[in-house]
Amino acid sequence: MAEDKRLTTASGMPVDDDQNTVTAGPRGPALMQDVHLMEKLAHFNRERIPERVVHAKGAGAHGVFECTADMSKYTRAKFLSKAGKKTEVFVRFSTVGGEKGSADAARDPRGFAVKFYTEEGNYDMTGNNTPVFFIRDPLKFPDFIHTQKRDPATNAPNPDMFWDFLSLTPESIHQVTILFSDRGTPKSYRHMNGHSSHTFKWYNAKGEYCWVKYHFKTGQGIQNLTREEATRMAGENPDHATRDLHDAIERRQYPAWRVCVQIMPPQAAKTYRWNIFDITKVWPHADYPLIEIGRMVLNRNPANYFAEVEQSAFSPGNFVPGIASSPDKMLQARIVSYHDAHLYRLGPNYQLLPINAPRACKAGNYQRDGYMRLDDNGGGGPNYWPNSMGGPAPDPAVAEPPIDLEGHAARHPQELTDDDFFQAGELYRRVMTDTDREHLVGNIVAHLGNAQKRIQLRQTALFFKADADYGRRVAAGLGLDVKEVQRLAAMSQAERVKATSA
Ligand code: NDP
Repeated sequence: MAEDKRLTTASGMPVDDDQNTVTAGPRGPALMQDVHLMEKLAHFNRERIPERVVHAKGAGAHGVFECTADMSKYTRAKFLSKAGKKTEVFVRFSTVGGEKGSADAARDPRGFAVKFYTEEGNYDMTGNNTPVFFIRDPLKFPDFIHTQKRDPATNAPNPDMFWDFLSLTPESIHQVTILFSDRGTPKSYRHMNGHSSHTFKWYNAKGEYCWVKYHFKTGQGIQNLTREEATRMAGENPDHATRDLHDAIERRQYPAWRVCVQIMPPQAAKTYRWNIFDITKVWPHADYPLIEIGRMVLNRNPANYFAEVEQSAFSPGNFVPGIASSPDKMLQARIVSYHDAHLYRLGPNYQLLPINAPRACKAGNYQRDGYMRLDDNGGGGPNYWPNSMGGPAPDPAVAEPPIDLEGHAARHPQELTDDDFFQAGELYRRVMTDTDREHLVGNIVAHLGNAQKRIQLRQTALFFKADADYGRRVAAGLGLDVKEVQRLAAMSQAERVKATSA
């Protein structure tokens, strides 16, 4: 038999029989000396790694980003320096709240994470299909996710938990309005946009900086499932978006996105109507129009799901020279938290895995050892800095320009104002069509109707604050007294909570 076709143990020993365990006699007990059986069972028991607490169910594909405009006036990032320049990417789409086996059609934001394998290191854009988020302080994140998952007693989703938290967190109103529109159930991963949501800093070779937000506009057009279609899809084809992405690429119908940014000069940020580091707000296009910077095409399916998709690890902290963080505290927490999650999930050397390692350049540092070190571990080179042995050295030329920060170190509450309801209202009254509004109200009523009445009243008052018609229609759908909703809407959040407490 050809040696390269022989079945072997993990240590390479050829296996003579993979159907019959070594036993004492034909009916006898198995013998522990059957190392092939022992190894096979032991490895099987260890096949699962911890699933992501959020974004557990996902699908991914390889592709190319082509820069279509020279952005060097704004950023020194080389992959954005010349029209026509191509950079390999890997993209992972996901739902957020469900487990690894949950239905792709769930009402949920969709993760939209892009790894650009640039010649200056890997740059990760870890976005969503929505331009905003539910909360703007990371201290609230674990609580928020708990409420969207399972009840600790029943292990089933609980509409009271879900809406209690959201109605006690009114800054969520904008994202809740998007989530309960049909955009909360995209037809597939190909038919949705991606947004960085956060504001980032771009800086050029002269050390000048600006603030940016990214938007990936689908070339396939926005298409969504209605509530009824999503419910049916979840039962009939729970992996529909996973299959759709794979099958489209196999058919050579390569999905593409137009990649755009909004750019704001730092002086403008200081006096802008909204805090540009508040992730519950967008920058209206009329103020900051989209500027196209490139095109992203996905053209290759992973050959192995676990190796490439499950082990892919994105972090908003993976920057390249020319792109940096902003003072957004949600972003700051994600920079720490994503890396930390991968250390737990994949181990200290997760960035050496082929899907995560730089491709267009070599990483050079003094990190050594740790579980599953699968390269040469720095060989015989120096393992400390500074050294005079020719080891990798810091390059001061890539330093990011400083920004001014000042203020008292304290827990500063971000007061809720009527402005926090404005953009949700704009979306409802100006951007949505009649059909969008009708579906939005129907989707909310079908879900919120399962919560306690006092929670329904508190949440509907928030819809009313975004737009009176919005609040009235949800109230009518739920059979609530509109006058009571209006009365609650006129209160401060503290009064409203008191009036609707158990
Ligand atoms: P514009 O009228 O200039 O743009 C509206 C945006 O909303 C477009 O990007 C559109 O693009 C998107 N959109 C259309 N229908 C829906 C929908 N049912 N749900 C969510 N988004 C939709 O408005 P402004 O920039 O002044 O923003 C107004 C509101 O539009 C915002 O408050 C926000 O809710 C929403 N929006 C704004 C974005 C921004 O970055 N300015 C981005 C996305 C939404 P597309 O269909 O390609 O998504």
